[in-house]
Amino acid sequence: MNVSVLRLGHRYVRDDRITTHAALVSRAFGCDKIYMTEVDDSILKTIKDVNERWGQGSSNFKIEIISNWKHIIKKYKNTNSCIIHLTMYGINIVDVNFSEIIQNNHKPDILVVVGAEKVPREIYDLADYNIAIGNQPHSEIASLAILLDRLFLGSQFIHSFNGRLKIIPTKHGKKVKELN
Ligand code: SAM
Repeated sequence: MNVSVLRLGHRYVRDDRITTHAALVSRAFGCDKIYMTEVDDSILKTIKDVNERWGQGSSNFKIEIISNWKHIIKKYKNTNSCIIHLTMYGINIVDVNFSEIIQNNHKPDILVVVGAEKVPREIYDLADYNIAIGNQPHSEIASLAILLDRLFLGSQFIHSFNGRLKIIPTKHGKKVKELN
């Protein structure tokens, strides 16, 4: 199952940190790619540095800068993939049948759409699923992390990233192994 994220909208400077975190969560939680509209170069540099030091994982995580989100949605629609829009107005996650989403072999690719500011109305109709991580407003990062955990069923935490640096988990302190 290949999962990518579409970050819809980005307010310059104000959203830099949140957009960076959307990318970091997407990478660490096993997504293939995050699509973003034009963002500050510092975000691209942060993710490049993280990939170089900590690895890109088996999904070979990438950022793709896009100029028109509609082209991405169209691509996923044309390949009969599954589009999940995260919105507080959607069906509460507790009422979503995830086995239906995960086991649908006709739709191996999943695009998860998260907003920054108000998202265009069309997205609600274009999405196969409008899912709410509870019907209260909170954060795209929290929503993304919880949704990805339901999709990957925790398996994202045991993947190897094959990076130059590898953490040796310890009860106390920090242990990092540098691989050549
Ligand atoms: N007022 C905005 C709207 O109407 O979409 C909400 C913006 S919110 C700060 C940014 C993004 O966080 C939303 O587009 C959505 O993807 C995500 N989000 C916030 N709360 C959520 C929730 N309870 N469930 C799912 N996604 C949520």
